[in-house]
Amino acid sequence: MRIQANCNTCERTFLLSQIGPDSDAPGRCPFCGARFARHYTSLLVEAVHEAEIETARFVQVLGKLQAMEAGFDLDIDGLLRSFEEQVRGNERAST
Ligand SMILES: [Zn+2]
Repeated sequence: MRIQANCNTCERTFLLSQIGPDSDAPGRCPFCGARFARHYTSLLVEAVHEAEIETARFVQVLGKLQAMEAGFDLDIDGLLRSFEEQVRGNERAST
């Protein structure tokens, strides 16, 4: 899944895949070269990779449920609200 971020140094927007383990400069801004999470770059690069895989997996697993004639409808709006609340909660916890 495409996850975007903004560099705090040059303020440009990039995709997390551009700083992941398969990128040209893992852990660095693709525009200005700023090093992200300087003291734990390898953890960052790994976490970026995981975030992309797991968010894609999240969508894929829900897709399996959506494809079934389950006799119920998923509350997608409720799920997305809950997802946003929890992700925003992480943001608040880290600031
Ligand atoms: Zn930058």
